[in-house]
Amino acid sequence: MRKTLVIGNWKMNGSLAANETLLDALLPAVKGLGGVEIALCPPFPYLSQAGWHLKDSGIALGAQTVNEHDSGAYTGEVSAAMLKELGCRYVLVGHSERRSLYRETDADSAAKFAAAKDAGLVPVLCVGETLAERQAGETEGVVARQVQAVIDALGIAALTDSIIAYEPVWAIGTGETASPEQAQAVHAFIRRLLAEQSEAVAASTPLLYGGSVKADNAATLFAQPDVDGGLVGGAALDADAFALIYQAA
Ligand code: PGA
Repeated sequence: MRKTLVIGNWKMNGSLAANETLLDALLPAVKGLGGVEIALCPPFPYLSQAGWHLKDSGIALGAQTVNEHDSGAYTGEVSAAMLKELGCRYVLVGHSERRSLYRETDADSAAKFAAAKDAGLVPVLCVGETLAERQAGETEGVVARQVQAVIDALGIAALTDSIIAYEPVWAIGTGETASPEQAQAVHAFIRRLLAEQSEAVAASTPLLYGGSVKADNAATLFAQPDVDGGLVGGAALDADAFALIYQAA
């Protein structure tokens, strides 16, 4: 059985005070809702603060990106071992904002994915097409290329105990959500792509949807057979909205 999970991506938002308020509101709101995993990915400087708050809460900690090297002269970067030491279970890899704003390539994603696995973290590989790519009918080609880059570099077995998040770029932070049918179609495509290479990996890998997931659209998205939860940006900064999304899962 695949697990269902909801991951909150805070992006570059928060402050010590704002995080405290958000976590104080969120923890009681999601308490006692078993069966679905929940994780938060704050900015690096707040990992310790969030980790301390989340201790014994059942909410896991994650990071938003990772450097592919173990250690060394990489000013400004953070290694997978550091994230692990701070209590992270998950790390996002290849988020579209990393790909578009910081020029991360498919090869970078594969290297970061490998570093995460080596450190015992669960990588959440983010894939998705731009609006222009969707309009040009390239959605499946783009998503296949992004997933296959990791498989070609590391082998299909590397995807065991990992997560894939389908996040159409045109739906991220835009208020525009993929319809449940659009999300299901791409998720089913990813599932088939995995199944051609390993039935076991296809059956066990959670596929999350991301892109303007809100309290009022989460239930229909998560009801799709190949949607195993969500990667939530904006709505993860609102304790009530995030708790409702978690309940929907
Ligand atoms: P959004 O972001 O929910 O604000 O659209 C999702 C994401 O980028 O992970």
